[in-house]
Amino acid sequence: MNFELSEEQQMLRDTVRNFVDKEIMPYASDWDREGKFDTKIMTRLADLGLMGVCIPEEYGGSGMDYNSLAIVCEELERGDTAFRTAVSVHTGLNSMTLLQWGTEEQKQKYLVPQAKGEKVGAFGLTEPGAGSDVASIQSTAVKDGDHYVLNGQKTWISLCDTADHFLVFAYTDKAKKHHGISAFIVERTWEGFSSKAIKGKHGIRSGNTGELFFDNVRVPAENLLGEEGEGFKIAMASLDNGRFTVAAGACGQIMACLEASVNYCHERETFGKEIGRHQLVQQMIAKMEAGLQMSRLLVFRAGELKNQGKRNTRETSLAKWQACDFANQAADDAVQIHGAYGYSDEYPVERYLRNSKAPVIYEGTREIHTIMQAEYVLGYRKDKPLNKMLPAWEKELVSK
Ligand SMILES: Cc1cc2nc3c(=O)[nH]c(=O)nc-3n(C[C@H](O)[C@H](O)[C@H](O)COP(=O)(O)OP(=O)(O)OC[C@H]3O[C@@H](n4cnc5c(N)ncnc54)[C@H](O)[C@@H]3O)c2cc1C
Repeated sequence: MNFELSEEQQMLRDTVRNFVDKEIMPYASDWDREGKFDTKIMTRLADLGLMGVCIPEEYGGSGMDYNSLAIVCEELERGDTAFRTAVSVHTGLNSMTLLQWGTEEQKQKYLVPQAKGEKVGAFGLTEPGAGSDVASIQSTAVKDGDHYVLNGQKTWISLCDTADHFLVFAYTDKAKKHHGISAFIVERTWEGFSSKAIKGKHGIRSGNTGELFFDNVRVPAENLLGEEGEGFKIAMASLDNGRFTVAAGACGQIMACLEASVNYCHERETFGKEIGRHQLVQQMIAKMEAGLQMSRLLVFRAGELKNQGKRNTRETSLAKWQACDFANQAADDAVQIHGAYGYSDEYPVERYLRNSKAPVIYEGTREIHTIMQAEYVLGYRKDKPLNKMLPAWEKELVSK
């Protein structure tokens, strides 16, 4: 496995880093304070071709590989978790799912404008009573002629007020338990759809997160994604891609913590020397560096498996779990290194600490990934082969 970045990947990293330095970093703190999701950044991401990094050019994307998507997510989260989260749901959870499961008509109608960044996609799985336990969702879609009638509520949905299209999961046959869940492409403008942002979030305050409501929304039958009853499988396959982007983003969060902490280590003196000279401070810096390097290796390994079209649920879960934990710890240590100043928004590290918590919760909590890893090792969990043909570059997905 070659871990050298290609020339194209190095150029991509430089482009995104410059963009983040100029157009995100200087404003991130104000956006956080104001709780403002700046949609202009989404337009700029589209201009730079970053809304469809992994999507083939024939479907409007940039046609790059998975590790290029990881680089974009890493650099974006170095600036602000909100925009990495936006790319995670738009590309990782929505567009790549359409690519894998959509009909040609669905791809032309929804994927192409999403990959070009003309439209924004989001992902509606979580409900007030169902997060980790997906099969507990209550939303229903009842067939009525050439439509399904969708009822229910989703919560904690990223881009709730800004996305144009949502992948929504609902029961078409409750008796079949998780085999009775189906996936639908739902448009914001349809009658009976509404959304409402959640206020008072701990972190990612510059992101848009909230509730979706479906009140007898008539969804055309052609907007069923995959077959009836494949929704659970589709959701798990989506999460394999979403989690990869979250793990990559966590590396960027650690980078940001390191940059801020190293600066402060040189700037602040105690007992007659830079605090970077104190060994206990060095220990925190060393842990951040180790976390960054280990996380990147895990991410690139998962990305390489994806590039080869190999099954990667186990490796992606490990990367997501470890990278997010390392990032959360790095942010905690970054605040510690800044002492009392780290406790105020004069420095960015308190925002990093708040922002680094949600990734430990979404796309599989720390506990869910811990259990997954233990079950793989103990032999209780085995990935089954897929029963659906997928594009050659990713033939195998979760079939549980
Ligand atoms: C900022 C943000 C953005 C989000 N964006 C989206 C989005 O775009 N789309 C979407 O669908 N969802 C989204 N979510 C929701 C997220 O995916 C869920 O919060 C997550 O799946 C956990 O579900 P829950 O919050 O209901 O917690 P629960 O599932 O109720 O878990 C509560 C606690 O119990 C633990 N737990 C649960 N089951 C077990 C078990 N079997 N063993 C041990 N411990 C267990 C959990 O780890 C956790 O600590 C977002 C969440 C946040 C915070």
